[in-house]
Amino acid sequence: MAVLCISPCWSLLPGQKDEEEVHSDNQAVGNDLSDDDLIQIGDNYVHVADQLEEMVRDAMGYNGHTILEFEKLKKLATDMKTPLYPGCKGKYTKLFASLKLLQLKATHHMTDWGFKALLDLLRDMLLEGNEIPMTTYEAKQNICPLGLEVEKIHACKNDCILFRGYHANDTECPKCQTARYKRRNDGGDEPGIDIDVYLRPLVDDLKILWPEGVQVYDAYKRAPFTLRGLLFTTITDIPGGHSVSGQCKGEKDYPLCLDDTETLWLNNSKKQMYVCHRRFLPDSHAYRQMKRQFDGMRELAKAPRHFSVAYVYSQVNDLPNAHGQKSTTTLGKRKRDKEAVDPKIRWKKKSILWELPY
Ligand SMILES: [Zn+2]
Repeated sequence: MAVLCISPCWSLLPGQKDEEEVHSDNQAVGNDLSDDDLIQIGDNYVHVADQLEEMVRDAMGYNGHTILEFEKLKKLATDMKTPLYPGCKGKYTKLFASLKLLQLKATHHMTDWGFKALLDLLRDMLLEGNEIPMTTYEAKQNICPLGLEVEKIHACKNDCILFRGYHANDTECPKCQTARYKRRNDGGDEPGIDIDVYLRPLVDDLKILWPEGVQVYDAYKRAPFTLRGLLFTTITDIPGGHSVSGQCKGEKDYPLCLDDTETLWLNNSKKQMYVCHRRFLPDSHAYRQMKRQFDGMRELAKAPRHFSVAYVYSQVNDLPNAHGQKSTTTLGKRKRDKEAVDPKIRWKKKSILWELPY
């Protein structure tokens, strides 16, 4: 699982990780470059190299780097000066060779295997001690070692916990005792309302990002600054929204209309429809009086109420958080709301997003 990591590192260019690389778990690896990035910068090497040198110089003058980041910067600066093979006098440094080879791969849509075969051949053809990279990954790491770091985190098979922080070295889940390395052979379900378990690393980062922020380096101004970020919105379909918010499916399950939702169950297609949209029209609107053109009835009802954040919070505040195995053991399967009097029964959990301070 890719996790957003907030750390004061910078990236020369964004991109996707190659499928070729398989890394051990919980190991930080550099992000690398997309084919489009490579094509774009390949012909422009001299300009890019100048910028790169300047950025490396600036960044090395900044004191906020971790030892690992500093080592990466040093490697970048060295690779810019290292000849491709002993005695190579031309423009081909280790860094430039990696860049040109990757550009060739991108332009001609070479597969990783084909590219690796080319690298093997070139390494064999050139003088001993040459700096031809062993793999696509190594070539990309040469030109962009400071990507955003990606951390791989194991999750319990039953979605109870992530093996991180306090549980980083556990070999079994402390909640359901399932072995950490037990693999799913059913392909796995969606986590449903247990999505919160997977949102935990993101929420932990967001809780730092808004009130405190993190120190990052501005390569243009050549100075560190405090970066702040917040979760502005989430975009889901209705079932996905139910997983995130914990709202139950049922007759009152439209996320905005809540208690005032009007639905119609279609027996044959086994689907629920949201109806009575004429409620949103002004009282005097002609459509409200029409019968034949709609469902055979006049519409006299008012528009649904606006339910405030405080109202929803009051419904979920004392509910438990999601805790794995679809959180069914204590929360149970909530009844559809036609049987429910208490609006709280329309929610299965208190979503992890309520932890955010805004
Ligand atoms: Zn578990």
